[in-house]
Amino acid sequence: MIIDTSKKTVKFSEGEVVDLGVLTALVALFSDDQPGTDPEPDPSTVVIAEYASQSDSEHRKWYTVKQFKDNHFTCDCPDYVIRRSKDGGKCKHIIRVHYRSL
Ligand SMILES: [Zn+2]
Repeated sequence: MIIDTSKKTVKFSEGEVVDLGVLTALVALFSDDQPGTDPEPDPSTVVIAEYASQSDSEHRKWYTVKQFKDNHFTCDCPDYVIRRSKDGGKCKHIIRVHYRSL
């Protein structure tokens, strides 16, 4: 087995049997020496702000509106969760927060 760490390749000779433990160690070795190569997180999953938006029907109730890095919003109210999230629409809480944050 020839390990080329600069090219991050392993050359196995024909018929060579490699233990899974060795393979795991190799993977760890290769991942350890390339810091900062983690893929950029998907901007649609990165929350950049959270807002509390009050429920109109129940004033003790507050919903959490989240703003994501790609500038889409989600809300945890039933209207959004059940209806809007499917068609990418905005509930009134998101609309309120959206205009407040502009
Ligand atoms: Zn909402």
